[in-house]
Amino acid sequence: MKQIIYLGFDQLNSKYGALKDADPKSDLIVLVESARMVTGSNWNKVRLYFLISSAHHFAAELTQAGYTVIYKKAATTVDGLTEVKKKHGDLPIIAATPNSFRLSKALSDFGVTFVENDFFLTPKELFNSWAESQKSYLMENFYRGQRLRLNILVEGGKPVGGAWNFDKENRSPLPKGYKFPPYLEHKPDEIDIEVAKQLGMQPNTTWATSRVGAKKVLKNFLDNHFESFGPYEDAMSSDNWALHHSLLSPYLNNGLLHPSEVIDAALKRFEKGDIPIQSAEGFIRQIIGWREYVNGMYWYLGEDYKELNHLNTNRKLLPLFTDPDKTKMNCIKTTVSDINQRGWVAHIPRLMLLSNLALITGTNPQQFLQWMREVFIDAADWVMVPNVIGMGVHADNGVMMTKPYAAGGAYISKMSNYCKGCFYDPKLRTGETACPFTTLYWDFLDRNVEEFKGNHRMAQQLFGIGRLKDMPEVRKRAKAVLAGLDIGLI
Ligand SMILES: Cc1cc2nc3c(=O)[nH]c(=O)nc-3n(C[C@H](O)[C@H](O)[C@H](O)COP(=O)(O)OP(=O)(O)OC[C@H]3O[C@@H](n4cnc5c(N)ncnc54)[C@H](O)[C@@H]3O)c2cc1C
Ligand code: SF4
Repeated sequence: MKQIIYLGFDQLNSKYGALKDADPKSDLIVLVESARMVTGSNWNKVRLYFLISSAHHFAAELTQAGYTVIYKKAATTVDGLTEVKKKHGDLPIIAATPNSFRLSKALSDFGVTFVENDFFLTPKELFNSWAESQKSYLMENFYRGQRLRLNILVEGGKPVGGAWNFDKENRSPLPKGYKFPPYLEHKPDEIDIEVAKQLGMQPNTTWATSRVGAKKVLKNFLDNHFESFGPYEDAMSSDNWALHHSLLSPYLNNGLLHPSEVIDAALKRFEKGDIPIQSAEGFIRQIIGWREYVNGMYWYLGEDYKELNHLNTNRKLLPLFTDPDKTKMNCIKTTVSDINQRGWVAHIPRLMLLSNLALITGTNPQQFLQWMREVFIDAADWVMVPNVIGMGVHADNGVMMTKPYAAGGAYISKMSNYCKGCFYDPKLRTGETACPFTTLYWDFLDRNVEEFKGNHRMAQQLFGIGRLKDMPEVRKRAKAVLAGLDIGLI
C-alpha cells in the first residue's frame, strides 16, 4: 500500500472527497470510531446507531469493491490512525478537509494532507469573497447569487415563476383532517442488528443506513411529498411527525447523498410540470441556499463564534429538554419525545419551539447548543453552531439574523394543533394556566427593551409592550414560570 485514506463518518461517498481518485491496489482505507464520538457526551442512541451503521455499511461496500478497509475503534481519531500506522508502516495519510475546526486542526497537526472537500456546492473561497462584499450577511442575497451561479430555476437571468422567493406561500397551517402519505420504514439487516446490539438498543426503522436506502428516501420524497412541501413547510402537528419534509438531512450530512444529486433529481421532477413553483423553489432554497449559507458562515465566522453569548444569558439547561415528563407544555413534551424516539424534528420546532424557549428563558447558549448537538441525528458542528448561536438564540448580536426569533403562544397556536391538548392557554399571559411561551415572550421583550430599541425590525414588537397594561403581573408570572421551569414543574 502506498498511502492511507482517512474517511470521516460524514464523508461516506466514493465519488467525492478523498475517495474520488482512490485506487484499491495502492490505498488503504481507514475509518475510526472514536470513543469521543460514542461515549464522549450524552449522545442520542438513534444518532449513534445511524452514524455507526452507515459507516459499517459503507466500509462493507468498499470491501466488496476491492478495497482494503480498516474499521478501527480507538480513544481518538488520531490514536486510531497512530495504531494503523504502527501496524502498516509509516504511510502518508490523505483525507478530504474535515467538516469541523477541531478535527481539521487535530488531523493537520498529525500530518494528514487534505484534499478538496467537495461535499458542498460552494467552495470556501467563493463564500468568503461573497461574505466580504456584504454589509450584512443576508441569506436571501447569497441565495439569489447561487441561483444565478448554478443556473437553477433561472431563465434569461430571471427567476422561474416570476419571483426569487415564495417564502410567503410556505406558511400555511394544516387543514383539519389532513392526511399524509406514509413515510418509509427501513428493515434492519445484519449490520444494523449487530450495531444496535452493541449500543444496547433495538434497531431503528426510521432511518436508512446505506446509500440504497437513502436513495429510496429521496425517491419517496419526490413521489409523495415534494408537491405539497411548500405550503406546509412551517406547519407543526401532533398527528404527523414528518409532514411533507424530505428527511434527507442525515444522508446529506453523512455523505450518502450529495446535494447536487438531490437538486438534479428535484429539478427533473419539477420539469414534469405537476410540482408547484412554491414547493420546488422552497425545497431548492433549503439546499442551495440555507444549507450552503450555514456551512459557509460556520467557516467564515471562525472558531470562537460558538462561544458567543451576547445577551449574557446563563440559565442552566431546563430539565424538560432532557426529560419530556418534566413539563406540561404539550408542544415541548411532544417535540422532545419525538427527538428521543427518532433524533429528528423539522425546522420550525427546532427554531420556534426549542430555540425560542431557550431564547426567552435566557438559557445559556453553549449549554443549549451542546444539548442540540447530542440529540439530533443530523447534528454536526458546522450546521448546529450557526443555526443555534446565530439563528436560534441570537447570541451573536445579530451577525446572522437581523432580529431574534422570539414568539409567544399565538404563533404556535396558529401553526400547530398542540395548544388544543395543552394544560396552558396560548391567549393568556398571566395566571396559573397562562401559556409559558406567551408570558415569557413579553417578559423577554421587556427585559431587552434597551438591547433592541435601535433595531427597526423589532419596533412593532416593542411597541406592543408599551400597550400592555398588565406588564407588572406579566413580570410576576414570568418569575414564577422560570422558577417552575427550572425544577421541571411547568
Ligand atoms: C436551531 C436549529 C438547529 C438546526 N440544526 C440542524 C442540524 O444540526 N443539522 C441539519 O442538517 N440541519 C439543522 N437545522 C436545519 C433544519 O432544521 C434541518 O436541516 C431539517 O429540519 C432537516 O429535515 P429535512 O431533511 O426533512 O429538511 P427539509 O425541510 O426537507 O429541507 C431540505 C434540506 O434543506 C437543508 N436545510 C434547510 N434549512 C437548513 C439550515 N438552516 N441549515 C442547514 N441545512 C438546512 C437540509 O439539508 C434539509 O435536509 C437546524 C435548524 C435550526 C433552526
Ligand atoms: S398553550 Fe403554550 S405551552 Fe401549550 S402547546 Fe400551546 S404554545 Fe405550547
